[in-house]
Amino acid sequence: MELRLSKSKYLSGMQCKKKLWLQFYKPDQAEPPSPALQRIFDQGTAIGELAQKSYPDGQLISATYYEIPKALEQTKQALQAGIVNLFEPAFVFAHTLVRVDILHRNPDSTFDIIEVKSTSSTHTEHIWDLAVQTSVLEGSGLSINRTILMHLDRACKYPDLSNLFAQTDLTREVREHLKVVPDHLKQFNELIHLETEPSIPIGSHCNRPYSCPFQSYCFKQASVPTPSIFNIPRLPAVTLDNLASASIFALQDIPETISLSESQRRFLTLYLEGKKEIHTEAIKAQLTSLNYPLYFLDFETDAPALPWLEGLGPYQKFPFQYSLHILESSGGLTHKEYLHTEPTDPRIPLSTELLNDIGPDGTIIAYNASFEKSVITSLASYIPDLSHHLLSLIPRFWDLLDIFRNHYFDSAFNGSNSIKSVLPVLCPDLSYKTLDIQDGSSAQVTWLEIISTKDEEKKTALSSGLHFYCHLDTLAMVRIYQYLKDLTG
Ligand code: SF4
Repeated sequence: MELRLSKSKYLSGMQCKKKLWLQFYKPDQAEPPSPALQRIFDQGTAIGELAQKSYPDGQLISATYYEIPKALEQTKQALQAGIVNLFEPAFVFAHTLVRVDILHRNPDSTFDIIEVKSTSSTHTEHIWDLAVQTSVLEGSGLSINRTILMHLDRACKYPDLSNLFAQTDLTREVREHLKVVPDHLKQFNELIHLETEPSIPIGSHCNRPYSCPFQSYCFKQASVPTPSIFNIPRLPAVTLDNLASASIFALQDIPETISLSESQRRFLTLYLEGKKEIHTEAIKAQLTSLNYPLYFLDFETDAPALPWLEGLGPYQKFPFQYSLHILESSGGLTHKEYLHTEPTDPRIPLSTELLNDIGPDGTIIAYNASFEKSVITSLASYIPDLSHHLLSLIPRFWDLLDIFRNHYFDSAFNGSNSIKSVLPVLCPDLSYKTLDIQDGSSAQVTWLEIISTKDEEKKTALSSGLHFYCHLDTLAMVRIYQYLKDLTG
């Protein structure tokens, strides 16, 4: 079988040569895409199809990725026929296959390459992507004039999608990168014919520009312990790479001379000494400032690439669910919630219910309150009738996360202060691990299934999973609050 590079393989090689090699020789070691990642791919496909509408009378090269000779022949015929806009034309040069999202023929018989991305800005890897396409098309005899990234424009607001796409001309940047493409293609082509796995250390590149699906495989190979240098909060990439290339992964092996920020040094020292740092008086002062009843609030939101709610643009979030635990000074605890289960706009019914559930007095507690406040502010801007009432909630917020940012440090949190890291340490009897839905991205995918299914049984089962998940988010806050109360007397 002929081993051939492609656009995506070129990008893999640019990220890590071992990743490129593994894709050919050990693809079964890659983690399968999560439902959340699959959703990103699906959104990308839908956006690609929409982008084609901006180029009328285009001809789609219909042969699939499994019918390359047919795709090449269809492309040849379309070019000979002088078709102006081609979608998915195929070209091979230097053992590299590319299929171009949109190829536009100019009146002077030069061509523009248009790469469609579901991002809202340009990134370095887009330049690599366009450069390898340019190299292959020019190698195939075409004259390329411009290379353009077509991406989503955040200024677009549904229902007016006329400005959904923006175009950024990357011709200059692509020409610059093009100088190194032939050399890279040569190196990558040699690499994919090697029978021995290349030896590349793990490092910051394992997550940049993409999260590499071979991480489990490579981290196991390198015997990376937990916690490791990868858990040190915000460790600069250069420091991480220096340690990783010296095979220093365990925290106890880090040389004392290494330069660390205050918070990184604290994390390391606490871990090495097996201690915690707790500012009891400061926590007590914070807790004493809260007013009962305490409202523990958490939203679940979606932020689709393609907006479908009035006034929202690409990737603008809106809530579809909330969970609210209410703790009285007597210790009484009640729970309220809202989950929108129909394919309609959730914002007005959710806001109305929320305002019914939250009384006029008492502190509203969230974990990373800036998120909940931004959701409420966005709801207020969309619903003028409720705006005043919604905005009146904002000054009542108190952020439980601030305690773990400023006053409570424990290396057992493994360098993270997210609620999912803090909860199992402070309240080990409560866990997300037993839930079907364990994170916000899975919650989004589940919600999309709920609103799109016609199967009532399935809708009920999926809704129940979401209820459990969101309920646990606020119950976790209640339990952490109670733990801190007990701790501070
Ligand atoms: S996990 Fe890191 S080292 Fe391994 S293939 Fe991926 S990017 Fe390369």
